[in-house]
Amino acid sequence: MQISEFIKNLKPYVPGRSTEEVQREFGLKEIIKLASNENSLGPSVKVTDALRESVGQTHLYPDGSYYTPRKVIADHFRLDLSQVVLGNGSNELIDVLIRVFCEPNKDKVITAAQSFVAYKVCAHVNRCEITEVPLNADYSINIQKIVDAITPAHKIVFIPNPNNPTGTYISEKDLQPLFEKVKSREDLLLVMDEAYTEFVRAKDYPNTLSVFKDMKNLVILRTFAKVYGMAGLRVGFMLAHQHVTDLINRVRLPFNVTVPSAAAIPAALTDGDYIKKSQEMVWQGLDYFYKELDAMGLKYCTSQGNFIFFDTGIDSGLVFEEMMKRGVILRPVKNYGFNTHLRMSVGTAHENEVAIKNLKIVLSK
Ligand SMILES: *Cc1c(COP(=O)(O)O)cnc(C)c1O
Repeated sequence: MQISEFIKNLKPYVPGRSTEEVQREFGLKEIIKLASNENSLGPSVKVTDALRESVGQTHLYPDGSYYTPRKVIADHFRLDLSQVVLGNGSNELIDVLIRVFCEPNKDKVITAAQSFVAYKVCAHVNRCEITEVPLNADYSINIQKIVDAITPAHKIVFIPNPNNPTGTYISEKDLQPLFEKVKSREDLLLVMDEAYTEFVRAKDYPNTLSVFKDMKNLVILRTFAKVYGMAGLRVGFMLAHQHVTDLINRVRLPFNVTVPSAAAIPAALTDGDYIKKSQEMVWQGLDYFYKELDAMGLKYCTSQGNFIFFDTGIDSGLVFEEMMKRGVILRPVKNYGFNTHLRMSVGTAHENEVAIKNLKIVLSK
């Protein structure tokens, strides 16, 4: 069988270790999982109510146009209904964007090295090369370098803002050269992946919605997995102009979001109390991590997400293993080429304290 080199070279996706797995392996009672940037508040009660109500409809296919949830999203962002597409997580939309806008074995996509790994996987699955532009020394994305590296073969620029795994962000000012570049090229899409946007505290973080109207090739990705606490329901959405969404709608699977997940959207989007609680938990947790890591003399990136990227100062594989034996699951980032760093999600105050307590013990050995 003739298999594409792109497919042969794919590495299987390694998700964060699951709680049950670690419990079984090390015979532990309490497991604290800070590996996948999930929301430690647990689901919103409004969401679980909506899910329960939807159960009686699960013998039916979803409304293939997803009118109601899309209308709620469109109204929320003051956009037209035609400018909203739901996805099975924003991850699905990354894949569909490449499938629609990139010709296999010809077109390319471009992003920062050490940004969300899904861009690379989806590019390769679709037989497209990905150009990865090195980060700045402070681990932030270098927009000017990305602009300079764009060639006519590039059809999509993926910019995670804030970035995962580093938690850094790009300011409004720094983003301008890329906006200019994209405006000058009709056949180049700019995809701003804003999975963590609700956690951003930086004052000069760009409001991409404010330029949306004037940028026909701007695509904004959002997710319900983070601040809304719905990672397990797999829903994200795309805000894009109709010339983009028309094509995406032809290629995405007809029923890409399940009945319960679609039903949860209006509840989640309008649950202001839950959103506020999530933000406050994360902001307090980050401030606690900064204080503790400072006291331990460890370097980290100030984070605009719900996680922190920090330097253990030693082989992070050892720290990861030792933490896991103590019931705290963190995220190794060696696959991004960071050999001494780890990524730690912000949990509840209790989870954060247990994580820091164990980190101190592990690093003092
Ligand atoms: C978590 C995350 C997402 C969300 O993915 P879903 O498929 O919606 O769960 C998207 N982009 C980045 C950069 C992320 O870290």
